[in-house]
Amino acid sequence: MQFIQTIQNLREVLEDSRQNDLSVGLVPTMGALHEGHLSLIRKSASQNDLTIVSIFVNPIQFGANEDLKTYPRRIEADISLAQSHGARIVFAPSVLEMYPNNKPMTLIRNAQIESLYCGAYREGHFQGVLTVVAKLFLICNPDRAYFGTKDYQQLFLIEKMVEDLNFNLKIIRVPTLREDSGLALSSRNEYLSEQDHLNAPAIFQGLEAAKKAYQKGESRVSFLIDIVRQSIELKKGQVQYIEIVDSSTLLPILDEIKGQTAVILVAAFWGKTRLIDNIELF
Ligand code: AMP
Repeated sequence: MQFIQTIQNLREVLEDSRQNDLSVGLVPTMGALHEGHLSLIRKSASQNDLTIVSIFVNPIQFGANEDLKTYPRRIEADISLAQSHGARIVFAPSVLEMYPNNKPMTLIRNAQIESLYCGAYREGHFQGVLTVVAKLFLICNPDRAYFGTKDYQQLFLIEKMVEDLNFNLKIIRVPTLREDSGLALSSRNEYLSEQDHLNAPAIFQGLEAAKKAYQKGESRVSFLIDIVRQSIELKKGQVQYIEIVDSSTLLPILDEIKGQTAVILVAAFWGKTRLIDNIELF
């Protein structure tokens, strides 16, 4: 396992791997690795000769009032976890290494979807995500890159970027890993108080209840959204948004689901902790 902090050093190592015809998988993360991240790493290790895990808390995807300063950082533990689940390289550049001029002048945006859903409440967030992911793709030049469906809008935007800008790699979707309670694993779960941690599974319970109702024939968007909202509010969560969208365009479905593959996207707060989740309806 190699721990690499500079772009030049990583490029030299990857040059050797390319000459030996090794396939490369990339797992971009912000660290504080949990089982969800580890499932991405294991998947990559099973499909590629060499897996790179990047660990970078990307300042340009955090808003001014967000948790950049307090975001959990534990690089030593992350390195050993990444290694024991199959990573061959951990790439953890400094902010200065990635952004020598503070914020880059060149940014990648999605003109249609970046300001909807999470983007409506996190100005500049997806621009920051797409820009850092594009940089990581260009630095690592992977054959495959692994992303969780937990961050559904992010995954969609990255897939579109790859398609629109002709990145020569395949995006692999990895399903959301959950606690037994149904709560999606997230580095931010550790901000939750004990009581909020007990209540937060209401997000997924609401999503599952809505999916069951859909499977029984309920197709009215407002009705399905109310199921999720009630589940969250009953457990003292505060809904930020709940939307039902077409999975192929990520545009909202307004009145009724009529055969499209739909996804319910949700963001909710318990205290100051913002959690997101989603479920595909089929
Ligand atoms: P993050 O460190 O939060 O930026 O996440 C890095 C990657 O791990 C992203 O592709 C996430 O979608 C993915 N991820 C985060 N949580 C989970 C989870 N519970 N299950 C599967 N993948 C996840």
